[in-house]
Amino acid sequence: MILKTRRQFINVMAVASVALAAPSILYAQDTPWAEVGYDRILVANTNGDRLAVRFRTGQRYDASNLQRLNWLWRDWRDGGAQRQIDPLLFGDLALIQTRMSLDFGEPKLILINSGFRTAGRNATIEGAARNSQHVQGRACDFNMVGVSPALVVGYAESYGVHGLGQYSDFTHIDVGPPNRRWTG
Ligand SMILES: [Zn+2]
Repeated sequence: MILKTRRQFINVMAVASVALAAPSILYAQDTPWAEVGYDRILVANTNGDRLAVRFRTGQRYDASNLQRLNWLWRDWRDGGAQRQIDPLLFGDLALIQTRMSLDFGEPKLILINSGFRTAGRNATIEGAARNSQHVQGRACDFNMVGVSPALVVGYAESYGVHGLGQYSDFTHIDVGPPNRRWTG
């Protein structure tokens, strides 16, 4: 509790000094919440697992926390198989989550309905690309709880995510090759 208060105080000071020096980089401000920000993520999956994880400090990734996210991303529909997830994906999700949480004034939970997929299970999914970014550990299908996917797509687009699939009931993003857009 003391640490949290101290961090919030430091955040306020940092934002204040940034505002005086260069208002144009207010982008770098943090959030009032311990679990949501540019270097951390609040995420659950539809298996019922939930994590709040700081995946990097500055430019350094936290290897053990990346492992925890790999676990959350596992293919729990196929024996819990895991692989290493490209951490750039967590960065993109954190950007979207931070911006939406600030705009809504409350932390918004990311709910993953499909993260990593084994090649075998991917092959059983109608319409899934054989070389799916899900199989390569670079994708997720998700909802921002309480927010329509149409709105989520707008935020993802504003950050220039590489792969962006718009569906009626979820959003796909990935960190594969750039400039791929589709509607499912
Ligand atoms: Zn997908």
